[in-house]
Amino acid sequence: MDPETVTAMVLTAKGAAGAIKGVIDAIGAARAQVKDNKEADKKLSDFLDLVIELRTRILALQEKAFDFQKDLGELQSENMKLREEIRSKEERAADRQKYQRKQVGRAVLMVHSDDPSAYFCPACFETKERPIPLQNRSNPMSHSGTYLCPSCDARYVT
Ligand SMILES: [Zn+2]
Repeated sequence: MDPETVTAMVLTAKGAAGAIKGVIDAIGAARAQVKDNKEADKKLSDFLDLVIELRTRILALQEKAFDFQKDLGELQSENMKLREEIRSKEERAADRQKYQRKQVGRAVLMVHSDDPSAYFCPACFETKERPIPLQNRSNPMSHSGTYLCPSCDARYVT
């Protein structure tokens, strides 16, 4: 059932409850007119009982419609949250595809295809499933490079 139908259900039940209140008021006015006519008053009183019973049922229906509207709202926000989760998972998976292993001197590091000059920890990429940028601790006087992972403390010497 779509949200518009549920909203229409709630409004219809509310309208019916309002209309019945009008009928109850009209019966009260009619009884005031016939108060000396015991038979007519008894008939109006029986009629009032039926209308009150009808009102009770319509109020129960209105409550059900409200509950339904609330449940539907919760389902919609849950659905939106799940869609968002799927989307971000897909984005992460797509982004992971852009990383690849690259031989750098003696070490194998991860690089992103958009910027192959930045290195990422290959161990964390496997275990934590996210790219951790390596810190360059190379000695400028040395031919080899030293890269440190701030997350797992791995040291890569190129
Ligand atoms: Zn690491």
